Amino acid sequence: SGILYVVPTPIGNLGDISARALEVLAEVDLIAAEDTRHSRKLLNHFGIQTKAISLHAHNENQRSEQLIGYLANDQSLALISDAGTPLISDPGYPLVTAVRAAGYKVVPLPGPCAAITALSAAGLATDRFCFEGFLPAKTVGRTERLQALASETRTMVFYESPRRVLDTLASVGEVLGSARKVVVAKEITKRFETFIEGTAQDVITWFKAEPERQQGEMVIMVDGAPKDQDADFEQALALAMKLQP
Ligand code: SAM
Repeated sequence: SGILYVVPTPIGNLGDISARALEVLAEVDLIAAEDTRHSRKLLNHFGIQTKAISLHAHNENQRSEQLIGYLANDQSLALISDAGTPLISDPGYPLVTAVRAAGYKVVPLPGPCAAITALSAAGLATDRFCFEGFLPAKTVGRTERLQALASETRTMVFYESPRRVLDTLASVGEVLGSARKVVVAKEITKRFETFIEGTAQDVITWFKAEPERQQGEMVIMVDGAPKDQDADFEQALALAMKLQP
């Protein structure tokens, strides 16, 4: 009672729902879902009859107050999104912040997340990585964001829509260099799961070979800049400072 559970749901394979997720979803008083019609299918599949209300980008602030009202009434809530972990490029941030600020407990369940799942099989460094979510849709914004990441030495993880994948890969090649290793994880946990790796151009060539390859959900991962480059840059900067009159 008075608890908000944050519950990840499958990203393509229903078998990935956890036993604990099913238990929590069945036992809470109310489920806040990004899209109730979409989630009802998942809940029906598992025979869960808990009532669901919508919580999405457009009603999140006003909904948060209402949901805190439920918690104040000793009711328990679960937050889910259409797929994967809520708050990870999905709704929920204002709600979780508001619930914590109001003094109620937020209990997270571990579970599916496309970024982490993709990274775990990509063969890129995982000791350090950064999650960049979706790049801006327009070329100028995307280029600026990538420029800001040019000397990032950690593996970078991006979400992308099939419509923009070729443009984004082209920008990655242009801004981060044509030699940078890229891995795209497509339709993870689904029947046609595929990992494509190479330079940005190699991956673009693969996508273009058969137009239907551009369909499906994907995570783009990019190798970090070589660490020495960082040191070289620091050195050059120090030198430039010394030379300044
Ligand atoms: N909250 C989700 C999570 O935890 O992964 C992410 C939601 S975000 C709106 C959707 C994006 O996640 C897609 O555009 C794609 O980049 C990535 N994604 C989701 N499911 C995927 C899958 N099965 N395979 C590859 N990428 C996926």
